[in-house]
Amino acid sequence: MIVRITSKFGEISQVHKTPHTGIDLALPENSPIKAITEGVVDRIYTGTGSIGKGLSIQMEDGTRAIYGHMNDVSVKVGERIEHGEIIGLTGNTGNSTGPHLHFGLKGNDGSFLDPTPLLNKIIENGKVGQIPQFNIWEWLGGKITEVTVGRIADFIADFALAFPIIAVVSFGVYSLLGIFSKTVAKLGALGTVFYGILSLIST
Ligand SMILES: [Zn+2]
Repeated sequence: MIVRITSKFGEISQVHKTPHTGIDLALPENSPIKAITEGVVDRIYTGTGSIGKGLSIQMEDGTRAIYGHMNDVSVKVGERIEHGEIIGLTGNTGNSTGPHLHFGLKGNDGSFLDPTPLLNKIIENGKVGQIPQFNIWEWLGGKITEVTVGRIADFIADFALAFPIIAVVSFGVYSLLGIFSKTVAKLGALGTVFYGILSLIST
């Protein structure tokens, strides 16, 4: 899975008429979200507002971490949250055009802070809790973070980046299986190519 920033902090677009107060990360629906910091839940968004379902966790220094557009929030107001604790599932609720997680940081004075430096942590946490299965494409994809907007542009970019990897791995499979049988080797290599492309499409 290649985690993408679909909207940057401060961005103005069709969806965000005013500067975006956080960052949006494309994530499949119902991915478990783990808290990136410890703190106390100070607000639950029930899904009636544009942020959809979500929550706010206040940290010791007063900064609030805001998570939005979720399908399910599994904690309550006043609850103490440990770093890494599962707080709910990603979704597509509220003013959202596709499954994603909105993550924002609100300072003590009420102004929004740029959460981009925490990005790597969020991605890591967005992935934790999913079926623990090693997938070389996902592992390689996780090394690549792109800041692009159009889905098609994304796919072409992903493909261009992943193609050499797909080619090398497929050739490796071919060489390895070729020890036993040429036919099996061809099928194996072909399967690897398809699997690689499928992995890209399904992200
Ligand atoms: Zn957002």
